[in-house]
Parts: sequence; C-alpha cells; structure tokens
Amino acid sequence: MSHKVLVLPGDGIGPEIMAEAVKVLESLRSDGLEIEIEHGLVGGAAYDAVGTPLPEETLRLARAADAVLLGAVGGPKWESLDIALRPEKGLLGLRSELGLFANLRPALLYPQLVSASSLKAEVVSGLDLMIVRELTGGIYFGQPRGIRMRADGQREGFNTLIYSESEIRRIARVAFETAMKRGRRVCSVDKANVLECTELWREVVSAVAKDYPQVSLTHMYVDNAAMQLVRAPKQFDVIVTTNMFGDILSDEAAMLTGSIGMLPSASLDAANKGMYEPIHGSAPDIAGKGIANPLGTVLSVAMLLRYTLDRPDLALRVEHAVAAALDQGLRTTDIYTDGCSRVGTAQMGAAVVEVLRR
Ligand code: NAD
Repeated sequence: MSHKVLVLPGDGIGPEIMAEAVKVLESLRSDGLEIEIEHGLVGGAAYDAVGTPLPEETLRLARAADAVLLGAVGGPKWESLDIALRPEKGLLGLRSELGLFANLRPALLYPQLVSASSLKAEVVSGLDLMIVRELTGGIYFGQPRGIRMRADGQREGFNTLIYSESEIRRIARVAFETAMKRGRRVCSVDKANVLECTELWREVVSAVAKDYPQVSLTHMYVDNAAMQLVRAPKQFDVIVTTNMFGDILSDEAAMLTGSIGMLPSASLDAANKGMYEPIHGSAPDIAGKGIANPLGTVLSVAMLLRYTLDRPDLALRVEHAVAAALDQGLRTTDIYTDGCSRVGTAQMGAAVVEVLRR
C-alpha cells in the first residue's frame, strides 16, 4: 500500500533541513517503502505566497495525507503581522484542524554527544525518556480568555485551564501504550495540590492505569518534575502531562541532550495519523548558510515510519544510520566538539543516506 506524505518545509532553515530528510525518506524506496511525496506551503512562506499562514490547499493536502513532515515556521520578517496571520498560526491551525492531540517528544542522548550536554556525563549518559504532552486542550485553548477592563479601571488578563475526562483519558491511553513499547513506567505530572483541573487529571489517569497492569504509574507535581529532570533525569521512562506543563518540561528535557538540532517530535490523532517535525524553530540566525543540523528532521522521519507507517524496522534503520554518521565523527556546528569533523547540512544528510544505501 502506498502512503501519502505531505512535506511542508516552512521558513528559515526549514527548506534546508527538509531537503535532507526527504532524501532519507526517498532512499527507503529501495527497501520496498511505497510513498507518494507532495509539497505544500505553510508559515511565513505561505503568507508571502498567498497571504495566509495556512492556505486551504495545504489543509486539503494535509487531510488527504497519511502523515505530514514539517520543517519549521516563523522569523523576524513576519513578527509585526497581526497575530492571526503570523507563521505560528499555520502550525497551531494544522494541529487543531487535524485533531493532533498527542505530542510525543523523546529526549534521547546519543552516547557520541554526551559531552554536548550541559549536565555531567554520569547524570545524563544513557538518557532515553519520552514526554507525552496533551496538545489541543488545556489553558492554551480554554475559554473564556482575554484582556478586559475591570470596574475599578484597571485591565486584567485571564485564561482558562480546562480538561474534560475524555481529553484526559485519551492522552493517558497514548502514554500507557507508549510505555508498553518502552520501559513500562509512566509518570503523570500535574499540580493537583493547587489546581482542581489537574486533580481530575490525576484521578482519570489513575483510572486508565487499571487497564495497563503491566505499567507502573507514579504522580509528580510539576515543580518537582522540573527539578528532577535536571537532578536525575534517568529516573523517567514516559512522562504524561498537560499542554502547558508539557511545553515547558519538554524544552527542559531537550536541553539535557545537548542540542536542539537533534530532537524529533510527533503529533498524533486517535488513528495514529501524524505530523512530524524537529523540535527546534526556523533558526533565522543561521538560515541560508547550509550549516543547520538536519538530524532532528531525519529522526522525525524515523518517528513517522514507526508511528504512522507502522514500519519500526525502517525507523530503526534510520536511527542506526544517524548513529553511524555520528560514529564517523561528523558534526554540524551545533554539536561540534574538538577532534570531530565539522560538516554542513547537506554533508550530514548525505552521510546518513550513504549508510542507508550500504
Ligand atoms: P530556534 O529553535 O529557531 O533557534 C534557537 C537557537 O538554536 C538558534 O541559535 C539556532 O541557530 C539554533 N538552532 C535551532 N535549530 C538548529 C539546527 N537544526 N541546527 C543548528 N542550530 C539550530 O528558536 P528561536 O530562535 O527562539 O525562534 C526562531 C523562530 O522560530 C521564531 O520565529 C519562532 O517563533 C520560531 N519557532 C518555530 C517553531 C516551529 O516551527 N515548530 C518552534 C520554535 C520556534
């Protein structure tokens, strides 16, 4: 069966890193992978071309595709636009229009990159954790929201943290299913001592856990989780949490691995259709220089193969090819350390493809 993949390079370094990831994906055709690749516009590139960050045509292609592979969006050029027209709206629109409620962000430290981490080697070496973040609910979407004038003449800003039982249940299931394929431990992160919404979160996650007796469940307050991630991150296998807590904790976890350029992510719907993207942004400071690290996007291809195309064998091949390129001592600037060979975006991509062809 042929799979449709929609490629959205986006802005800044997006097109550069995406070119390499597409080469990797295409090279798997010789392993029997049947894919049709289409290209579309999103973000600032879409705004410049057609006046909106998420054109109807892109949405149509995304709905028709099995998976979307996205580079990055945004940049100073579009920062003064009205918020509804900013590149980031393209990303948020895709997530909500496609119902991508589960965001999976692994933080995996390659042994070759231990010295790039800001933490001591003994604290991080062997780190392999997965953050499962709820992506379409919570305080980022809750109503009512806004800035209003009070009777006493000062303005007040307000947002609403709200989760229904079904929203909590479905993200909890993704976390438990993920843990079943990993270390069978889930840590649910909340602030149940202060927020009623996450008191319900804790209760529902605990109820879902009964369906997964093989998985051990613990609960942790978010402030403690933030601390534990830098104190002893290897204690975690799968962390499941709300949209905002996950946003913050996943960036913290990413930095433990040394480079933002190495990490992929997946955003999935209930049927495992997904959008895959590196966790970094469009890196306008290095765009167009050919020095961006393409490996986060290449590893997003691996996640696409694993979660949407159900080809864990090919996912592993891609992950091993990335490790092999690192074993050769090849490093883009962001992960460079003394004694290694500094390479550009295209050379790194070519090295991965070369290993895959062997
Ligand atoms: P960023 O992730 O783009 O860059 C942060 C730093 O990391 C920069 O110094 C950059 O050069 C470096 N970096 C990022 N990716 C790299 C890679 N692959 N290889 C080497 N170095 C890399 O974050 P930022 O500077 O805060 O944001 C820049 C723009 O990207 C903003 O417009 C922001 O809104 C947008 N953004 C988009 C996404 C997304 O598309 N998912 C995510 C975050 C930020």
